[in-house]
Amino acid sequence: MQFNGNAFEADRLKPIDSLNRIPQKLRISITDRCNMHCVYCMPKEGLQLYPKNQILSYEEIQRLAAIFAGLGIKKIRLTGGEPLVRPEIEKLVCALSSIDGIKTISMTTNGLLLNKKAAQLKIAGLHGINVSLDTLKPDRFKSITRIDGLSQILLSLQTARDEGFEIKINTVIIRGQNDDEIVDFAKFAIATGYPVRFIEFMPLDGSHIWNPSLVVTKEEMIQRISQSGLELLPLNNNLSDPARLYAIKDNRATIGFIPSISEPFCGACDRLRLTSDGKFLTCIFERPKNDVKKLIRAGKSDTEIADYLMACYQKKPPGLISLLEHNTLRSGLNLMNTIGG
Ligand code: SAM
Ligand code: SF4
Repeated sequence: MQFNGNAFEADRLKPIDSLNRIPQKLRISITDRCNMHCVYCMPKEGLQLYPKNQILSYEEIQRLAAIFAGLGIKKIRLTGGEPLVRPEIEKLVCALSSIDGIKTISMTTNGLLLNKKAAQLKIAGLHGINVSLDTLKPDRFKSITRIDGLSQILLSLQTARDEGFEIKINTVIIRGQNDDEIVDFAKFAIATGYPVRFIEFMPLDGSHIWNPSLVVTKEEMIQRISQSGLELLPLNNNLSDPARLYAIKDNRATIGFIPSISEPFCGACDRLRLTSDGKFLTCIFERPKNDVKKLIRAGKSDTEIADYLMACYQKKPPGLISLLEHNTLRSGLNLMNTIGG
């Protein structure tokens, strides 16, 4: 088997796991650092961060991305920690954009630095941006993120839109924290045109606060929005997109729900993940053990690394469904700031 430049020979098998899932998307966490400390994601103190030399360099990320592209990956999302805290991220975006087979590069960010970076990211070839925003109330924003930054995020959204970016809002709903804002966010989607995607709280919390009673399910959210008088019309969904999309009747707004817990979509999962310290994850709930960085730093060839990735992928676990079956869901199963959501 030959690896030539960016693409494997055409007859190379696509990596299909035991459930016949074909990966198309790769999420790369480019740092475990963050300029916020959201209460459900990162504790304010005591979280062990990786030494900087354990984080993948841009060159290593670019090389791995090209190998993944050779295996059929078409879309890359950069995440973190907070991707925008990594210096000169636009250079990485530019390098990834030039990889054969990669059709889109997008980013998930908390938006704090987006105002400054939006123009450079556009020039570098970034396609879409998801901005995480869990509250529209300034005081609550401060208590959730431990930063006084709501107005900065709203400014960033406007700047990014002016640069021509397609923006989506990610909102994690947690009972007792922000579930009283579900309808406000639906109205925010109407007022601004930004599609809002409501995410069910997952046990991937470095702060170990997750428990099932904090999860507000998709059905409950739909009920609350409907009771407010807004009518939701289901849209045709692409099964590999975890968001279940709805139009709000008589408005040009779209909202979505990511029902990771109440309606796990593991059977249609087409995502792979690379952690900031170079572990390959075939499932968001899998313990990070497949150490690709070790292979790169040991001087292995692209073909050897690709074979390793394929071998790991064949063992992709069934996912959340089996954790639910075995009643093994508990807080802190993985750390979102290292795997990137
Ligand atoms: N810092 C960036 C941000 O906040 O957008 C990127 C990394 S963050 C880990 C990626 C996404 O994961 C964010 O939308 C965040 O709200 C979400 N997230 C973090 N912890 C979560 C959890 N326990 N359950 C569900 N979503 C979570
Ligand atoms: Fe940082 Fe994003 Fe985690 Fe919030 S959710 S602490 S912004 S990595």
